[in-house]
Amino acid sequence: MTERVAIITALILERPLCFDCLCAKSGMKPLSVNRLLGQIGRVVKVHRMPKARCRSCGENRPTVSVDRSPREKNDAPDPLLHRALALLRSRADKGVCTKCLGEALGRSAKDVQTSLQRIEQHAGFRRQFGTCAICEKHRLVLEASDSRS
Ligand SMILES: [Zn+2]
Ligand SMILES: [Zn+2]
Repeated sequence: MTERVAIITALILERPLCFDCLCAKSGMKPLSVNRLLGQIGRVVKVHRMPKARCRSCGENRPTVSVDRSPREKNDAPDPLLHRALALLRSRADKGVCTKCLGEALGRSAKDVQTSLQRIEQHAGFRRQFGTCAICEKHRLVLEASDSRS
C-alpha cells in the first residue's frame, strides 16, 4: 500500500496531472487513485486545481499535484534528514540500516530513528528487509527507490 502511495506521490510531485493521466500513468483504477490521494493528503498538501494545464496531456483540466515539503507542525529544516537522504541517494539501489546510517552521520541510532519516520514520508524512499550496504547484515534497511520508477 505504501508503495502505491509512493508511486502516486512521485507522479504528481511538483507536476500537476489530470486525473485521467494519473490513472493511466499509475495503472490504477480511479477509485484506488482517489483513496490514495486521500492518504497522501494526510501527509502532504494535495493541490486540487479546477483548471490547470496537465503536464502530461497538455489539456486544461482539473489537476492534482503535491509539494515536496511535508505538512508538519514544526516545518523547520532537518539537517540530519537531508544528510540521510543524500547518503541513501548516493547508495543508489542499496539499502542502509538504521545503525549504520546513524554511524555514517555521526549520530545515535535513536536520533536517526525519528528522522526515519520522516524519510518514509518522502516519495522515492522505502523501508524493507534487505542487506545493509555497510554492515552487510540482513535487516530492515532504508533505500532510495526513485531510480527505479
Ligand atoms: Zn492529462
Ligand atoms: Zn548496517
